[in-house]
Amino acid sequence: MKTGANIGTNGAQGLQNGRGISIFRHLNPNRMSSLLKKIRQYFSAKAPIPPVSSPDEFPVDENMFNNYSFVIGSLFTYFNDLPADHKVRFVNRVHHFKNTKKFHFIGLEEKDDISTLVSAAAIQVTFGLKNYLLTYFKDIYVLADAYKMENDNELYIGHVAPEGVYLSWRHFNYGYSNKSDNINVAVHEMSHALLYNNFFAQYGIDSNFRMNYEKFSTTTGPILADVVTKRRSYLRSYAFSNLHEFWAVSVEAFFVNPKGLKENMPELFEALCRVLNQDPSTRNKILRMELSE
Ligand SMILES: [Zn+2]
Repeated sequence: MKTGANIGTNGAQGLQNGRGISIFRHLNPNRMSSLLKKIRQYFSAKAPIPPVSSPDEFPVDENMFNNYSFVIGSLFTYFNDLPADHKVRFVNRVHHFKNTKKFHFIGLEEKDDISTLVSAAAIQVTFGLKNYLLTYFKDIYVLADAYKMENDNELYIGHVAPEGVYLSWRHFNYGYSNKSDNINVAVHEMSHALLYNNFFAQYGIDSNFRMNYEKFSTTTGPILADVVTKRRSYLRSYAFSNLHEFWAVSVEAFFVNPKGLKENMPELFEALCRVLNQDPSTRNKILRMELSE
């Protein structure tokens, strides 16, 4: 199996998904606008789904809070570091997110804790945002290990497609247990999902995220140019496949080792803080509370 370099190649190629669409390969910036058009067409090909009548966001009781805290805290140092009031907010969001998704287990036993932990990854990425439910995606597929897709010999550890978010459970755990390589497949795929949700879906859009992402994509131009000139970067080379991967790989580094990214690529770090409205190197995380609720 290919590892490392192949990790995260998924989100983009997943969109091909045996349908002969190869919209993400061999991009150059001049083709970005036509690319965005193609992605829009691809995602809007699905009939619009009205907003689900999601269960009301109600606070979990103390017993449930303790159970959630135990499960999430077993893997997420991000969660363990939060002040008490933010822990409550995090757990309530996980509970709400989990109840609005259908989880499918492929090759492994169905477990509520797995649904909780996968939901926690989405909540970590969206913790500074008002709209965190990624409403476009109703289904989450958890597979036991790396997998292959139809008409494709590559091994995937996760991908995002119109029909759902896919994650290898083995690699999910790897992402949260190994902090030295800036690789976290769940954060990677959730950041793709967040982008798709905000630019191609019709519901659950976070207007602040959208506005800041547009600014983010214009400020990353000089960063990309710099990397091309120097031919090396703090980010793994897969980031430079295209702008979508640059986004997802940057968000991974942002959460796996915030201090490392801040030290090595301060402008990128600042841009991510603005777009996600959080600084994961601080205990409090959220930067402007008024934009997140
Ligand atoms: Zn990706």
